[in-house]
Amino acid sequence: CGIVAYIGPKDATAFLLEGLQRLEYRGYDSAGVAVIGKPGTLKVCKTKGRVADLAAAVPARFKGTTGIGHTRWATHGVPSDANAHPHLDNAERIAVVHNGIIENADELRAKLTAEGAVFRSETDTEVLAHLVAAHVGEGVELEDAVRAALGHVVGTYGIAVVDADQPDRIVVARNGSPIVLGLGEKEMFVASDVAALVRYTRQVVHLEDGELATVRADGFRTLTEDARTVTRQPSTVDWEI
Ligand code: GLU
Repeated sequence: CGIVAYIGPKDATAFLLEGLQRLEYRGYDSAGVAVIGKPGTLKVCKTKGRVADLAAAVPARFKGTTGIGHTRWATHGVPSDANAHPHLDNAERIAVVHNGIIENADELRAKLTAEGAVFRSETDTEVLAHLVAAHVGEGVELEDAVRAALGHVVGTYGIAVVDADQPDRIVVARNGSPIVLGLGEKEMFVASDVAALVRYTRQVVHLEDGELATVRADGFRTLTEDARTVTRQPSTVDWEI
């Protein structure tokens, strides 16, 4: 339902929680956040219920400068802590938040399970975490792994993906569910709705369907799913808040 992400010099969690609060008006049944703590390590907190419940559940030591967050409106699997996003791979290296519906999730789940993936939720989304993990290896860029993963997927998505071993980037993609980049001063924000961003920046880039972006603290690059670079000029949001 709602996506937020942050990469920059500051602690990500404060923006993630506030951004999720600003997306509450869209409705949701659960919420969660993941940040990269020490390189190689993900911290994850997710709960059924309100963003306020999530904020109360986040431990004080939950620190990281790269992170993603989500409010879920369940389509596959009941509202529960386990089904709340972010979803992880077996090694807890990849974390994914997703809006939309993966139509071939059952088929992908069966195939991934046969290859050793251990599913911890009933969601369609979790296949994305295992697919990205299957493609990300030594030296493989997260962007390439996400593009390869999306090549297996039929459905609609707005996603944000982090890799604990590549803490300097977040990869996002859009197909039928909005993703907006917010450009800051040596920091970047991502959301599914500008409402989550406008307190932090007015400079935004809207992805088009079939596009991905690699987002870093000092900039971003946008491309198509078949790896053609696309140039997007930022626009200025003119909004009263
Ligand atoms: N289909 C996903 C799920 O059920 C995402 C739902 C959403 O857009 O929040 O978890």
